[in-house]
Amino acid sequence: MDPESTVNTIVRKVDQINPNPDDVKIAADIIKDGGTVVFPTETVYGLGADAYNKSACRKIFEIKRRPLDNPLIIHVDSIPSAFNLIDLDRIDKRIIEKLWPGPITIVANSRAVVPDIVSSGLETLAVRIPANPLALDFIKASKTYIAAPSANLSTMTSIVDSSEAISVLNGLVNFIFDSGRTFFGIESTIVDVRGSMPHVLRPGAFTSEEIMQLFGRSLVDPEARGLKEPNVLVAPGMKYRHYAPDIPLYLIEDLDDLIDFCNMRKKNDFVALVSEEMSKFLHCDTIIIGSEDNPYQIARDLFPNLKKAENSGKSFAVIQSVREMGIGLAVMNRIRKASIKGPLPP
Ligand code: AMP
Ligand code: MG
Repeated sequence: MDPESTVNTIVRKVDQINPNPDDVKIAADIIKDGGTVVFPTETVYGLGADAYNKSACRKIFEIKRRPLDNPLIIHVDSIPSAFNLIDLDRIDKRIIEKLWPGPITIVANSRAVVPDIVSSGLETLAVRIPANPLALDFIKASKTYIAAPSANLSTMTSIVDSSEAISVLNGLVNFIFDSGRTFFGIESTIVDVRGSMPHVLRPGAFTSEEIMQLFGRSLVDPEARGLKEPNVLVAPGMKYRHYAPDIPLYLIEDLDDLIDFCNMRKKNDFVALVSEEMSKFLHCDTIIIGSEDNPYQIARDLFPNLKKAENSGKSFAVIQSVREMGIGLAVMNRIRKASIKGPLPP
């Protein structure tokens, strides 16, 4: 398929909690016919196709302009289905039942023969059961597994609202669930469980503290925090630029440096993305990212706030750091990957 060619996109308003089965069936039939569907999960919107249909999965890469060495996550609706796909024998079943459905993706050795395009030819697969009634009904009705990355075009910020999904993907995909905002607003946590301790490849909505509690141990290395270049052999997709807003974004980690920069700069050519608490110290244009007392709200609104910065008409944006604990770890990972490393504009 030529990604520029216009397809007839069906857009349906569907409730995420009580989805209308007739609408779900239309989307499921499209999957069975080798089409593409944009659907909400509890994390972000996904762009899905039948995981067993090579040409359907190829369309995902073409639409997103996604490099072929960045594999997809396979979304399933039950734990037995996950066991069909990956080797989870080493993990206590009771732990798995606490992980899923939920915002956590497990990477383990593959047990299934899915097209290479889904796994980028790796011997592992990434699998998740989303905790979203609409997503679960949609997977079940499709009678297959749904391979899906986030629905944004490659390198862009993830899509957490159906209005954005429609403006970006109308005419490119076959079906869009117009279902409003997603619950967490930040992607799933990706964990490799092959070694002696769970290894967080990407922090996300399922916190490292929760993983630690369940497994008794876990490893989050500097790569996953966004502080170092990732090991491309384990997680090839992580090397690409991600979550980049269409405005130069600079992270100013030290809060005193941020106050100095904002209050001493003579030009009014930037906007500062800061917490409610921090904004009280600043005399520049701001976008409030939330309260430091509510990191889940900061996570949920992060991508829409980056969009607001894009639309601010300013030359660049600065953003503050948040505490790297709980969901704050995922927020800082996204901010680090979205921001420019280098000196601030003169
Ligand atoms: P996205 O939903 O766009 O974030 O894309 C899915 C993410 O899952 C990408 O970052 C992939 O690199 C990652 N992923 C998918 N399959 C694997 C795998 N087998 N091993 C490691 N990471 C994976
Ligand atoms: Mg993505």
